[in-house]
Amino acid sequence: KPIIAIVGRPNVGKSTLFNRIVGYRTSIVENEPGVTRDRIYGEGEWLERKFILIDTGGIEPNSEDVLLKDIRWQAELAIEEADVILFLVDGREGLTATDREIAQMLRKSQKPVILVVNKIENYTDVEMKIFEFYELGLGDPFPISAEHGMQVGDLLDKVLTYLPEKEEEEENDERLKIAIIGRPNVGKSSLTNYLLGQKRVIVSDIPGTTRDAIDTVLKRGDQEYILIDTAGIRRKKKIRENVEYYSVIRSLRAVDRSDVVLMVFDAVEGVTEQDKKIVGYAHEAGKGLILVFNKWDLVEKDDKTMQIYTKRVYEELKFLSYAPIIFTSALTGKRVMEILDIVDFVAEEHAKRVTTGLLNEVVEEAVAMMAPPSDKGKRLKIYYATQVSVKPPTFVFFVNEPELMHFSYLRYLENNLREAFGFNGTPIRLLVRKRD
Ligand code: GDP
Repeated sequence: KPIIAIVGRPNVGKSTLFNRIVGYRTSIVENEPGVTRDRIYGEGEWLERKFILIDTGGIEPNSEDVLLKDIRWQAELAIEEADVILFLVDGREGLTATDREIAQMLRKSQKPVILVVNKIENYTDVEMKIFEFYELGLGDPFPISAEHGMQVGDLLDKVLTYLPEKEEEEENDERLKIAIIGRPNVGKSSLTNYLLGQKRVIVSDIPGTTRDAIDTVLKRGDQEYILIDTAGIRRKKKIRENVEYYSVIRSLRAVDRSDVVLMVFDAVEGVTEQDKKIVGYAHEAGKGLILVFNKWDLVEKDDKTMQIYTKRVYEELKFLSYAPIIFTSALTGKRVMEILDIVDFVAEEHAKRVTTGLLNEVVEEAVAMMAPPSDKGKRLKIYYATQVSVKPPTFVFFVNEPELMHFSYLRYLENNLREAFGFNGTPIRLLVRKRD
């Protein structure tokens, strides 16, 4: 999927625009349970074109005092990885020195840049307000109001004209694709090298789709896997450091192409805010997901540590209670090979289909145990449910009045489906449709 990045100094309305655009899509997929808040990456869709939207402002954790160097860094990141850049400026405040600074960097890039002037609600004096932005040398300023959703659709129309004609040819490869993601230094490359270094494993390289990435084919018994290279995991540390900057976005691309995601954490540091965002993306993208807590050898432990640790992780990552946890050490090799067994298992769950008959039995029983929500004397009625797709398993519930469906009831239904069918390690999607 193409990547669109929103760049701009703080408070110009980047996250408002982000939510606007990703919000359009949310209304299409309806009430998806467990959606994370505070997102910086999201899948958007416009006129049936899907894309990934990045709010570069959200990548820096301390957005309170964003320094110029951070903005510069974000712009560089966008230039490096995005297909289209939305450069957002504030039409109310007018042109600032920082805007000029960013513009200068963007002008030098070869990427399409759309100069977007935000906070334009009043059309009587649009020309006056956008006029000064011509000076940035980035073409015609495009006025919008992110907050009121004005002109945002037109902006997306314009964005589409810059995207490549066709989506990158999706690989029809039947082999299981694994993405190993996580912050720098959690041990991704050590784990990868350990996996690849085993006697029972046969390894060969295939050129990746992104410039200098190299995917690896890994054979174990009859099973073949493709390890998607993220940020040149197999490259030497020295060389990798230069590209580490961009590893977040590379990770997203890898997630996109994968079936199963191994999210690696540093067990000593635990779950960080950035981890939550990255893993939240994998969840929303509907991938099979395994939580790997590496450097377990460094954790002081007794026979209860693992249990307590697990509980704490699920408390912190509530929406991921379906994802298996494994504690590894790339240093000693402990449990590293078990990862592949879990991958096999999760991949099966991710592609699992249940029959309509069984599904509706479970739904009926759930409804009998707890009545669906009602409002103003009207009660939600579920006529029937059906599984419409896999990877991830997706279900449509046909009902009398979709508005009556409540988030907590969807959660309840999801729990019932999971109790009955497992779906371990995979998100599932519950959609609600009106049946006339
Ligand atoms: P990456 O950036 O996520 O690929 O992380 P690396 O694989 O380069 O590892 C970063 C550092 O952590 C290196 O010095 C590794 O030797 C070390 N390391 C990785 N895995 C483990 C582990 O399980 N235990 C310990 N003690 N150190 C590890």
